[in-house]
Amino acid sequence: MTNSRKHTNARATTNTTENIVLNPVFARPGEATEFPKFTIPDSMSLPETAYQIVHDEAMLDGNARLNLATFVSTWMDDEARRLYSETYDKNMIDKDEYPATAAIEDRCWRTIADLWHVPDVDSSIGTSTIGSSEAAMLGGLALKRHWQHRRKAENKPIDKPNLVLSTAVQVCWEKFLNYFEVEPRWVPVSEEHFVFDGHDLEKYVDENTIGVIAILGVTYNGLYEPVKQISEKLDEIQASTGLDVKIHVDGASGAMVAPFCQPELEWDFRVPRVVSINTSGHKYGLVYPGLGWIIWRDTEALPESMVFHCSYLGGDMPTLALNFSRPGAQVLLQYYNFLRLGREGYRAIQQGSIDVALYLSHAIAGMGPFDLVSHGDTIPVFAWKLKERYTDKWSLYDLSDRLRLKGWLVPAYPMADGLAHWTLQRIVVRAGLSHDLAAALLADIESEVAFLDKLETAMPREGTGSHFHH
Ligand SMILES: *Cc1c(COP(=O)(O)O)cnc(C)c1O
Repeated sequence: MTNSRKHTNARATTNTTENIVLNPVFARPGEATEFPKFTIPDSMSLPETAYQIVHDEAMLDGNARLNLATFVSTWMDDEARRLYSETYDKNMIDKDEYPATAAIEDRCWRTIADLWHVPDVDSSIGTSTIGSSEAAMLGGLALKRHWQHRRKAENKPIDKPNLVLSTAVQVCWEKFLNYFEVEPRWVPVSEEHFVFDGHDLEKYVDENTIGVIAILGVTYNGLYEPVKQISEKLDEIQASTGLDVKIHVDGASGAMVAPFCQPELEWDFRVPRVVSINTSGHKYGLVYPGLGWIIWRDTEALPESMVFHCSYLGGDMPTLALNFSRPGAQVLLQYYNFLRLGREGYRAIQQGSIDVALYLSHAIAGMGPFDLVSHGDTIPVFAWKLKERYTDKWSLYDLSDRLRLKGWLVPAYPMADGLAHWTLQRIVVRAGLSHDLAAALLADIESEVAFLDKLETAMPREGTGSHFHH
């Protein structure tokens, strides 16, 4: 109310057309007065004014390139940006109207299926999504639907599906379990089993288990869960109980790193028990936010009952996705990256990031106060904790706050259930964090540690404002 009144008054006194157009932008109504924030203004503004207002407020966000909390791309080259600005109006769902974009989407998922060693691309199936979260929902639903079909055929109840997964999964799996009513069988992380490796799996799996999730690139520390080892454990369980439990791999970050940097590691469709894999095109697929992928080994792994044959916009367009409309430009950017980079370019970029991560983790380990919990040699992500009994004056939350004063976002957060008493701090290295910039970060970490170490009294416990980003 107050805001809109202020705005109206200013207009009444200064709002001749001449004033609006000729006034320097910051002396115009809108800039010189206040806009309402929670209601639509009564009247129009010049586009330059509205632009300036929104532009300026967005300026208060952190600098995306210094955001070492996120896995999501913050840098693409100029040609990619040009392509983006030429194609942001394409709706991915309009496949009949944009057949070229649809064909490129098809080519991209086939390319990814091939990259992940699917036995026969022509009998596999895949789709782009808005991110790994949507892809995970689809992967989880396919497991659930498959289990339901099998149980129905055997005349058995289908009211108690469960899914086996590590407590260190990303939050999208908690959403899946909650939204689609599947009981979690949490395998806690521990000092002995810092990543889920299949130990004691027989205690978690039963006839109601729809599948097991294996993570390639655990969000908390970047480590890989050993997919093949988990699969071998399930082989043993099948041999002794007859239960045939399949694996979905959450490769949100690792599935676009391992094929280039650890090509001999068998985590993908080379492992027969793996029926589906998701990744985030907008993480190490190196595309701007808004893109994920999921591939199923074959049409047997994706029940036909989940595919919609939609003739609404012309043609018979099979779709399997939670969203209807969604930007198509990111799919074109993924294809651009495949052409621009090739395997060689992807390897060079991902290996470059791993090298920077190793440089940083080595230096951080050498500073004194910290113990690494990972090094950044899987995906370029690593985490550390404060040495036990190093200090009672400050915590990693304080260090995170201090670094924020210098522009760096380096989050601190509790480890997953089982080790939630551990506080970790993490760096995600992405294309765009050069060796040079990393050296500047190290210098800032060193000087902030020195500042904290010199404190004579402990930092207050309140107000540790660091947030964990996935
Ligand atoms: C980031 C992440 C997700 C969620 O991916 P979005 O693309 O952000 O939806 C899921 N799983 C893991 C392991 C992740 O790192």
